[in-house]
Amino acid sequence: MSSIADNIGSVTRRIQKATLRAGRAPESVRLLAVSKTRTADELRQAAAAGQTAFGENYLQEALDKQAALADLTNIDWHFIGPIQSNKTRQIAAAFSWVHSVDRLKIARRLSEQREPGLAPLNICLQVNIDNEDSKAGCSLAELDELVEAVGELPNLSLRGLMAIPDPDQPESGLRSSFRTLANTLRSLRQQHPGAGPLDTLSMGMSGDLEMAIEEGATWVRVGTALFGKRPAKS
Ligand SMILES: *Cc1c(COP(=O)(O)O)cnc(C)c1O
Repeated sequence: MSSIADNIGSVTRRIQKATLRAGRAPESVRLLAVSKTRTADELRQAAAAGQTAFGENYLQEALDKQAALADLTNIDWHFIGPIQSNKTRQIAAAFSWVHSVDRLKIARRLSEQREPGLAPLNICLQVNIDNEDSKAGCSLAELDELVEAVGELPNLSLRGLMAIPDPDQPESGLRSSFRTLANTLRSLRQQHPGAGPLDTLSMGMSGDLEMAIEEGATWVRVGTALFGKRPAKS
């Protein structure tokens, strides 16, 4: 079995190769280690190997790990899971990024509850890019209004878009979903120049990060390729 440090090395090489092939700067793509279901000790091993950004889906699990790893000062926590409105206060306090904002109500609460003394909370809007019934995210059609409104909120920095394309589609469909997200970000940036940096595409996971990078990903969210297969949820 390969160690977490080895896996970080090989995923980093995959990212480098893909950026080279796409003619992009290697530092233009960052690795988010998706650590849901992983123990604090596994995260500590990843941190020891140089990993700084961790993505969590479940609030309580994340808070427990943050407490266990409080001695590690160099870690950035990203929230990437579904958000209930009664959890926004803790999310606004404990994370530096949220990739999974898909409605204005949640964005408003995060902005109101983010301590003004902290740096603005970095936000990506999650898009249900393949219109799946089972999936969170706003529709492409809702984005214009959402960007306009979220861009006005004082304690947020609107960084870009996140999507999880339907994995059960042919490669061409997957690529076209990534490309649509990239084109959408570009046009939002033109149409809403004051809304925020809009410099971020959070897309690509263990199985498809190369394709996502070819299409413009700036964060790839990788779990299985770093930590191994997740135990089935009971
Ligand atoms: C679990 C998860 C990932 C990581 O998926 P892997 O296939 O294990 O790399 C990425 N993004 C989100 C939103 C997730 O929930």
